[in-house]
Amino acid sequence: MELPTPGLPPKAGRHYFGLMQSPKLTQSPKLTLSPNQGEPPVPAYAIPAPPQPVVAVDGDAPFPVRRIFCVGRNYAAHAREMGADPNREPPFFFCKPADAVVADGAAIPYPPATQDLHHEIELVAALVSGGVDISVDQALNCVYGYGVGIDFTRRDLQNAAKKKGHPWDMSKGFDLSAPCSALKRAAQIGHPAAGEITLSVNGTERQRGDLSDMIWSVAETISYLSGLVRLAPGDLIYTGTPEGVGPVVRGDRVEGRVAGVGTIRIDIA
Ligand code: MN
Repeated sequence: MELPTPGLPPKAGRHYFGLMQSPKLTQSPKLTLSPNQGEPPVPAYAIPAPPQPVVAVDGDAPFPVRRIFCVGRNYAAHAREMGADPNREPPFFFCKPADAVVADGAAIPYPPATQDLHHEIELVAALVSGGVDISVDQALNCVYGYGVGIDFTRRDLQNAAKKKGHPWDMSKGFDLSAPCSALKRAAQIGHPAAGEITLSVNGTERQRGDLSDMIWSVAETISYLSGLVRLAPGDLIYTGTPEGVGPVVRGDRVEGRVAGVGTIRIDIA
């Protein structure tokens, strides 16, 4: 019997002889059984496959999300407001699950296990190709397009994790924590390197920065990240937030904008 290869989905149509043959059919002398004939079809997966998370695309079919990478402290003023010293030390990363994406215009419930849900407005780069050890010069060739994202953060859990030296996963990678606007294709808008990035809550501006203030550019971020993991089509990179992060509460309307890329609106239900 052939065993499934770890890490790979089982091949459709693979059968395990002796385990799944129908006793009724094997007992009938009139039936000549070719392999597998008459057996119930073997499903490709043990359970129904989970849906593919997607982000909408302006003028194209939806973008399938593979992984979500996020850059920490990529704007100097935000690094300072988080108590860190901004410098050109290598960028650091954390991840959110692919199914944390939320479409523009959605209302999301205030998440559990926090009393301090924070907004972080971010430029999102969506990859059409990837690889390892991508040079800065070649990095932007990997970008399919850009979106406006919000890196929702359970700040109280994050602060507790920092104090204990624990992972950030549950403060960053919770359900519905990664809203992203419809993507604009790079072929359409180019690669924005400067321009306002802002966020307001209930019409009052909370965050304002400029893409040109990023400590690590999109190209540098892709290049560095590809030295840590193999990047691939479907990856999203949330590129960090400018200063002014703060709490939201139930009933708030959160609106973000990146000049030349688009807008996003999320209601906290
Ligand atoms: Mn962030």
